[in-house]
Amino acid sequence: MTADRPVALRTFVDAHKFRGPLPGARLIVLGAVHGNEPCGSIAIERILQELACGELEIIAGQLTLVPVANRLAYERGTRNGDRDLNRNFAPISTPSDNEDFIANELCLLLAEHTVLIDIHSFSWQSSPMVLLGPDSSARDPHPFAFACDEESLAAHLGVSRALYGWLATNMQRAQRRGSSIQYCKGTTDYMRAVGGYGVTLECGQHADPLAPELAYQAIRNALAHLRLIASEAPEPRQEIEFLRVYEVLDRNSTKDRFAREWNSFDRLYLGDAVAYRSDGTVVLSPADGVIVFPNENAEPGTEWFYLAERDPRVRKRRVCSNGK
Ligand SMILES: [Zn+2]
Repeated sequence: MTADRPVALRTFVDAHKFRGPLPGARLIVLGAVHGNEPCGSIAIERILQELACGELEIIAGQLTLVPVANRLAYERGTRNGDRDLNRNFAPISTPSDNEDFIANELCLLLAEHTVLIDIHSFSWQSSPMVLLGPDSSARDPHPFAFACDEESLAAHLGVSRALYGWLATNMQRAQRRGSSIQYCKGTTDYMRAVGGYGVTLECGQHADPLAPELAYQAIRNALAHLRLIASEAPEPRQEIEFLRVYEVLDRNSTKDRFAREWNSFDRLYLGDAVAYRSDGTVVLSPADGVIVFPNENAEPGTEWFYLAERDPRVRKRRVCSNGK
């Protein structure tokens, strides 16, 4: 009879956990879900150093830091290892690729927490912003009980713009195309599905030297806002622009072209010519609002641009019923 030998299981995700003596929120912060977006990793390493030297102390709840969620992609300097980790994000019963194994570990971790901040950046120049889940109102087909908490957290992260309605919009696109609705779902959607709430923090362009600082300040502000550290909670931004994303259009052909050069958040009015299809058909703006993430180089069959509307009812931060 041979003695059982411990089997060294490979883990894909390094998580650093800190628990405070008092009850409180359980916050998890992810960096480098996409491997070529280093700002979150840099910010998290700085927070880890401050925790190690005692400059920062968790007094309540739990903080879990994952500096590099997607190690393979991070080491390659690419967005993905085998596939996009932030799509089809759910436990995989028969994992086969790099992101399947990571997702299985991250899903278990997320389920231990109540709040997620997932830190990203863009390939294009952009001001920082936060992406929220569904609205809490009946206008959203998937109203979300913690929408107000997400808005409150967003108002403390140091960004001046928040966008919501992604999932409903992307699900409509998936239904039109007959493709998988699950594919639309990312880390924050999973966090909401397991009873918590979460935001995606977009810190600007990948190489923007200000992005790691923004990410660092956002984590510090979130720790104070959630009362995990003893610091005074920061004042929320009073003027944060909330935009509801309501439509996404695909580019159908390389001959589809924009009516002019668009930048994200350029103003649109009802009936404005946004683009022309290859057969000359004009794509008109169906309402007043803004264009979001226009991509003139989109491959046919992929997302070309999004449309969003300013929602005056939620333009200013709402006060949550729990006072947060
Ligand atoms: Zn990303």
